[in-house]
Amino acid sequence: MTVSLRRSVVPSAALGADERNLVEEFVAEQIRPVAAELDQTERFPRELYAELAKIGIFGTTVPEHLGGMGASPLDYLFVMEALSYGYASVADQCGLIELIGSLLAAFGTPEQHERYLRPLLAFEQTCAYALTEAGSGSDLGSISTRAVREGTGWVLNGEKIYIHNAPVADFALVLAVTDPEKGKRGGISVFVVDLAVPGVTRAYHEHKMGQRASQVGGLVFSDVRLPADALLGEEGKAFGYMMEVLAKGRLGIAGLALGISRAAVAAAVDQAGDRRQFGQPIGANQAIAFPLATAYTELRAGVALAAEAARALGDGSAESGVLCSMAKLTASEGAVRHADTAVQTFGGSGFIRGYEAERLYRDARITRIYEGTSEMQRLIISRSLLPRPA
Ligand SMILES: Cc1cc2nc3c(=O)[nH]c(=O)nc-3n(C[C@H](O)[C@H](O)[C@H](O)COP(=O)(O)OP(=O)(O)OC[C@H]3O[C@@H](n4cnc5c(N)ncnc54)[C@H](O)[C@@H]3O)c2cc1C
Repeated sequence: MTVSLRRSVVPSAALGADERNLVEEFVAEQIRPVAAELDQTERFPRELYAELAKIGIFGTTVPEHLGGMGASPLDYLFVMEALSYGYASVADQCGLIELIGSLLAAFGTPEQHERYLRPLLAFEQTCAYALTEAGSGSDLGSISTRAVREGTGWVLNGEKIYIHNAPVADFALVLAVTDPEKGKRGGISVFVVDLAVPGVTRAYHEHKMGQRASQVGGLVFSDVRLPADALLGEEGKAFGYMMEVLAKGRLGIAGLALGISRAAVAAAVDQAGDRRQFGQPIGANQAIAFPLATAYTELRAGVALAAEAARALGDGSAESGVLCSMAKLTASEGAVRHADTAVQTFGGSGFIRGYEAERLYRDARITRIYEGTSEMQRLIISRSLLPRPA
């Protein structure tokens, strides 16, 4: 039996065969054909996202009565893997909407649901998730963006960097200190900020190694006056809120990385069969075939671990956070290795722009960094193994 790498092997829970086919056909017909062009032009594919919204793909785990799909984390893993097999930037957009959608659904007021969540899931509004600052990346508890009470509202000052969608977003969830004495233990809050209000500047537009259709930039807030209802949930609770969605975010990046791995293995297998040297396909050499066997085995192991993490998350298991970290670590480090295997299988053409292996190699690299670096995942996993120092 020969396996097909054209179909996702990530299982699903709520999604049936018809829904899976709909997603995979969309990927094959509308995403894969434009991936190289999007990479080259760094264009934000609004039309593609509008079509994805029409088939109801955004907000996979957001309850149906709030405009989402009402499905499970396992279905979300499938969606992310399937989209990323098409092009990682598209999955990244879906992951961002899922995270913001989950936060708004869980902690937003009915007014915030109507004003932000529904338009977000329908792709009528675009969002950003603004946590990182120049002095605060892995250590988010050290942010310095500050929101100070003024009358019934707030005044926001600070600068965020490397924010996905910052150049195109209509609104952002912004993490800010509201009580410096308490810091991350009750002193950090999250605000829904309309980016068209006075005092907001879109600072710069980054040009990245990979996932180049994802728009990334900075946001500067200078005396931005926010109404009282800009606060999401309760004052001082943002760190706890973030921890609640962090595991889902990591699961999503695990899915995205697995999609890159599948695309890399598929491209390499095709090349190993098509390319002939010394009178035979290069795949007839074990030196080419064995790395593909290893990559495919690691890919399937990564899927199994990520599916276990997704089920644990859906069940509310205490282990789900660590499992999602393990899934992200395994899948992201695997994606980088498997894209490298694809480049090697392609030989010189693997280094040339326009070949899929070259793009996948660049697209994979960030998965070891964003949504918590590999080192941060290892920190979380090791803490679950070792006793805490006194
Ligand atoms: C393309 C892209 C998109 C992004 N999108 C967003 C977004 O939408 N919103 C957002 O808020 N942020 C976003 N980020 C920021 C991203 O989350 C951070 O870059 C990431 O968390 C790492 O932070 P840092 O860059 O400050 O690295 P640092 O925290 O400075 O880390 C540098 C290195 O030191 C290691 N390190 C740090 N502390 C420790 C430790 N205690 N033990 C061991 N190693 C350690 C890290 O693992 C890393 O290898 C994005 C970044 C990129 C590049």
